[in-house]
Amino acid sequence: MNFFKKKYRYAKTAFKQGQAVLSDPPLLSISFGSHLCDHCGCMNPTTSFPAVDCHADYCSDKCRKRAFTQYYAFMASPDGEGMSEKYALLRSQYASAGTADAPLIQSFHVLAALRICAITEQCKKRGELDPNQCTFDMPAFRCLLRPGDLGEETLSMSGFRVPFNEQYRAYEKVRETLPSSLRKQVNGYDLGWYDNIWGLLMMNCVNGGGVQSTGEVTSVCLMRAGSFINHSTNNHNAVLLPQRDHNQNLGFVAVRDIAAGEEVTITYVDPSIPSAEKIRLLATQYFIHEGRSVTDKDAHKSKFEDKKKKLLQKIKSEKSKIITTESEEKEKAKINIPDIVEIEASAEGTIIDADHTLEAELRLEQLRLQEELESLGNEHDALKKEVVARGL
Ligand SMILES: [Zn+2]
Repeated sequence: MNFFKKKYRYAKTAFKQGQAVLSDPPLLSISFGSHLCDHCGCMNPTTSFPAVDCHADYCSDKCRKRAFTQYYAFMASPDGEGMSEKYALLRSQYASAGTADAPLIQSFHVLAALRICAITEQCKKRGELDPNQCTFDMPAFRCLLRPGDLGEETLSMSGFRVPFNEQYRAYEKVRETLPSSLRKQVNGYDLGWYDNIWGLLMMNCVNGGGVQSTGEVTSVCLMRAGSFINHSTNNHNAVLLPQRDHNQNLGFVAVRDIAAGEEVTITYVDPSIPSAEKIRLLATQYFIHEGRSVTDKDAHKSKFEDKKKKLLQKIKSEKSKIITTESEEKEKAKINIPDIVEIEASAEGTIIDADHTLEAELRLEQLRLQEELESLGNEHDALKKEVVARGL
């Protein structure tokens, strides 16, 4: 998740063991069992709160409202072309297909992608997103780490390559379920978008609390602020509670006293599983290389930082000599425009109301812009070479 600690959470004040350190409304959760709330993924008590078109069931009126505001209004609208019903059908197919053919943990990506598509469309409808913008222009999603953010070196260390085109079959399911108007959309929901969603989910999701008797996870949650909490193998100071807190949020609790200023950490893997399995899970799912010695990791990091520094210096020195072309001007304009647009929560549970992540978002946006500048520098170099090669 937070490789090289680009992002982290720290305690502003001291916490005593057992105290709640963070209450985090899930960005979204996907649950399979009918006994689980369709929005927050918690165990559904006996009273049920059905959705407007009865294709979903919630634990409370609060969850029903949040779901409707964030994505369900689109899914159940004529524009959604029966998306809420198709979604419910797909989910029940996955749930009944059994774990051998369709492990729920994999089917979950398809369902989450559909929901994220609906979140994006609903944001556009509210005017919080331009029609030509995409999911990753939304602050709530932009601030979450994706595999592409880690850089090629880190990814190759993990044996991963972007794009994850092997996910093609899953993407086909998403395409089939999308309203026809969205399938053709430019800058929309193509394989590249799905790749990014898949990676983002892989790196930021947690077990939502539901586990079958077979050990299969039945509920998965995508966190907001909680995604910024780093992993610690031997010295974590907080844990994620298996059940939602009184606000239907994900709750993090201190497992020992935490000093003010100390970084809050959890463990991403079950501490009781064999250490080889732990190492494998951390490396493949979170890009954390526990097997490597600290020295290896530090060496890798400093090599990476060196490269970055050199590149930035090069761009600085080249900046004065820049031959400005029309397309470059356009690219530059793109970079300069997006000051963080903080969107006020217009209704309870609006997807972009996570103002407690703003600080981290800003920091991350800064990093992202820096990286964008770097890549522009590379493009600029290539352009210059081409100019020289053509003798212009
Ligand atoms: Zn709920």
